[in-house]
Amino acid sequence: QAKESGRDACVVYSSDMDKRAAQNLMIRTELIHAVRRHQLSLFYQPLLNAKGEIASVEALLRWHHPQHGFISPADFIPVAEGSSLIIELGEWVLMEACRFIRELQEQGICPPMVSINVSARQFHQDEFAPKLLATLQEQGISPAHIELELTEHVLLTDLQQVRQTMTQLREAGISIAVDDFGTGYSSLSYLQELPLNRLKLDASFIRDMGNGEASASIVKAMIDMSHSLNLEFVAEGVEIQSQFEQLKAYHCDLYQGYLFHRPMPGEELSALLVRLGEQQALSSV
Ligand code: C2E
Ligand code: MG
Ligand code: MG
Ligand code: MG
Repeated sequence: QAKESGRDACVVYSSDMDKRAAQNLMIRTELIHAVRRHQLSLFYQPLLNAKGEIASVEALLRWHHPQHGFISPADFIPVAEGSSLIIELGEWVLMEACRFIRELQEQGICPPMVSINVSARQFHQDEFAPKLLATLQEQGISPAHIELELTEHVLLTDLQQVRQTMTQLREAGISIAVDDFGTGYSSLSYLQELPLNRLKLDASFIRDMGNGEASASIVKAMIDMSHSLNLEFVAEGVEIQSQFEQLKAYHCDLYQGYLFHRPMPGEELSALLVRLGEQQALSSV
């Protein structure tokens, strides 16, 4: 009997692996066409300040395949990161974010800062900073409209080089956030050594906050540490009201999560910005 179920478990396991392998293969063969076939889009998720105003938005890549449907960036970004495809995707994301910012400006809407996720291979390219700044200039977008989100993994490969690139970006007016903070099992000394603007604490810490004193203390300590380093603190993945209340009590600066807004298409965000602008105009009369 045990042997039987053992064998069954093994079969399930291997067919799961087959599925994963098949999906990875599909992604690898199809993703190379995604840009040219216009299958990509950007969604935007607002980050709110303590007053509930939109402080910035995060650009999140979406891939819609005509046969395979919606494919999550959590599945296809790691595949793209295995090759230079991630560079091509990154360039597309930047161009699309610029186009969107210009579109808002043309509609007379004041664009929020747009945060863009950048992978290691992208950031560590030769001439990453000058190329990025040249693109912004060509596109007529002020660097003040752009923030880059980098994970600890990106920051800790060649700290010297990272600091140099980052300094160039910061001097030009681009903001920089550490994404998924706390998942890298790294020393914290880099926080003092790099010119950062924001820390985005990984959603797993927010999720654990309700599971007792210790987890909540960690979040509070991270917020206090951010403030003593002059960094803005972002809570990612805020899903329920009690998390929001607790974070507010700890003086968290910015809030991102389904409790407030899900990532949305550009048109939806521009409609939201128009509505909020009208409310503001009304309340200031
Ligand atoms: P990330 O940068 O940490 O982005 C936050 C993720 O959390 C997004 O998932 C977002 O939709 C999700 N999220 C936001 N609020 C909540 C919430 O309250 N609950 C839950 N359960 N999730 C929430 P998404 O869009 O699936 O993206 C996954 C990851 O893919 C991103 O994590 C990022 O690492 C990567 N990614 C997305 N777009 C790009 C891109 O343009 N370039 C690169 N290099 N990576 C990207
Ligand atoms: Mg991010
Ligand atoms: Mg994150
Ligand atoms: Mg992430």
